[in-house]
Amino acid sequence: MENQEQVNKRGKGLVFIISAPSGAGKTTLVRRVMEELPGLRFSVSYTTRPPRASEKEGVDYHFVSRDVFQEMVTNEKFLEWAEVLGHCYGTAQVDVNSLESERIDLILDIDTQGAKKAKEKLASAILIFILPPSIDVLQERLLGRGLDSAETIQFRLAHAKNDIEEAHWYDHIIVNERVEEAVEKLKTIIISKRDQKEEKSWQGLQ
Ligand code: 5GP
Repeated sequence: MENQEQVNKRGKGLVFIISAPSGAGKTTLVRRVMEELPGLRFSVSYTTRPPRASEKEGVDYHFVSRDVFQEMVTNEKFLEWAEVLGHCYGTAQVDVNSLESERIDLILDIDTQGAKKAKEKLASAILIFILPPSIDVLQERLLGRGLDSAETIQFRLAHAKNDIEEAHWYDHIIVNERVEEAVEKLKTIIISKRDQKEEKSWQGLQ
């Protein structure tokens, strides 16, 4: 496992953009990888969606009103923002700016519209798409987690199919069939990007 000295040597942080249809298991994967790899920070997005029972302000999201969100849009506080399933979600620019001064890599968990916009502004960002093994499995997972009504699940499934069509322009695709394997794949991508960056900076290429 990488130690703090290696983390410090890496310099300015990388940005990993992770997208997935809901139910693909992205939240679990990201949480596991963050527990197992030091030097990663999760970018806490702003959203107008009300919190779910298990969610905490400032940890899962910053939960704000439509007015506050709109004010942030007007004041250009977002690197990117998008409307997903009737709610607004945005990544604060300040979160990404802090990478200039901190030796940390950032994980953005954002949808495909946001990923496209973020990539336009941050060309070096690494795009990773998490796929469920199949649409049937996705449906079972959405039903099983008991978070949404039947109507919302149908809505989410239709949205998921559209999202999956966007996967082809991502740099990496991980099929989350078995969590352990998917965690290892995600870690391998992050570690290899860190290694590439370290090699380039050593050679004076960056
Ligand atoms: P959920 O409501 O299930 O937490 O998230 C719904 C969708 O919004 C997910 O696809 C998630 O990746 C996306 N999302 C979360 N935060 C952001 C953000 O800051 N920007 C964008 N564009 N999408 C986000």
